[in-house]
Amino acid sequence: MPRPILASLDPSAVAHNLSRVRECAPRSRVWAVVKADAYGHGIEAVYPALASADGFALLEIGEAARIRALGWTGPILLLEGFFDAADLEAVLELKLTPVLHDDAQIDMLLGMRPSAPVDVFVKFNTGMNRLGYTDGRGRKAVERLRAASEVGTVGLMMHFPEADLPDGVAGPLGRFEAETAGLPGPRSMANSASVLLHPATHADWVRPGILLYGGSPTGDRDGPAFDLKPAMELTSELIAVQQLAPGEAAGYGQRFVAQRPTRVGVVACGYADGYPRHAPDGTPVMVAGRRCALAGRVSMDMLTVDITDAPEAGIGSRVELFGRHLAVDEVARHCGTIGYELMCAVAPRVKRRVG
Ligand code: PLP
Repeated sequence: MPRPILASLDPSAVAHNLSRVRECAPRSRVWAVVKADAYGHGIEAVYPALASADGFALLEIGEAARIRALGWTGPILLLEGFFDAADLEAVLELKLTPVLHDDAQIDMLLGMRPSAPVDVFVKFNTGMNRLGYTDGRGRKAVERLRAASEVGTVGLMMHFPEADLPDGVAGPLGRFEAETAGLPGPRSMANSASVLLHPATHADWVRPGILLYGGSPTGDRDGPAFDLKPAMELTSELIAVQQLAPGEAAGYGQRFVAQRPTRVGVVACGYADGYPRHAPDGTPVMVAGRRCALAGRVSMDMLTVDITDAPEAGIGSRVELFGRHLAVDEVARHCGTIGYELMCAVAPRVKRRVG
């Protein structure tokens, strides 16, 4: 029997979550963000559920090629644009829509003299201070691109650093409006948090990522609170049970010390499967349908759970690390991280099953 760890992917959940985007932003077109191999879910696994989106947004040329190979002929937004001439050739070949954030990229694009007009988006930096133009330079870039026959549609884009906060968008939105006043072209601002919380940011194209997979973009509410369904369930089984007397400890560093007679269930899932090593004792784990608590340091291939209060649990019992009965957001919160990281971390060695 193979190790019983499994990531089950539910395309119907992804389709439901996309329909939530349509409900929240009915007048916007939707870039489905599938970077990082669809946030760890696998592009091929989620593609059928997302094929009714208006476009895909991602980072890597290889991922764009995989979407084209699946038959997608619509727009693909390349979120950081291209890095060198070889990348740019692939952009042209695959008919991608690069996001341009500096003049070197524009020089390279125009210098390449593409035979068919290339659609682009220009990125404005409105406070995130990662990529993008500030201080009127974005306007100049847009004007230069609009004057070039090699360029088709010139869109305008920005990214919010704090859209998860109720008052987190007003400042960047105001800066974007000032920087782009009077410029024509489609606009794109909204990530998942903006889609759910800030209708004023929806504009022509929204760019949701995490919500498509059922994760929450905010720290204080889990995905289901936004009527999102988890697309991934990470499950395993108990492969051993240990009985600890009070004072006995479990695992590396002997971090968990039993305070009472304690049954410890050993789960076939460790940090090499993507479960966070820094998860503290008390992090919830579902065992045999019951909520239990992590007990002891996560090791490479196993973790240990206090199953004293789940008397029906034994070797072979089903374990859910996160999924339908335990939101990835809640587990992430215990670990001081976000659901995004837990989804992306599920290791290649974990078998995926679709449906
Ligand atoms: N747009 C850009 C430029 C991004 O970098 C990301 C993700 O980080 C997204 C959209 C999607 O964000 P989220 O997953 O929070 O919806």
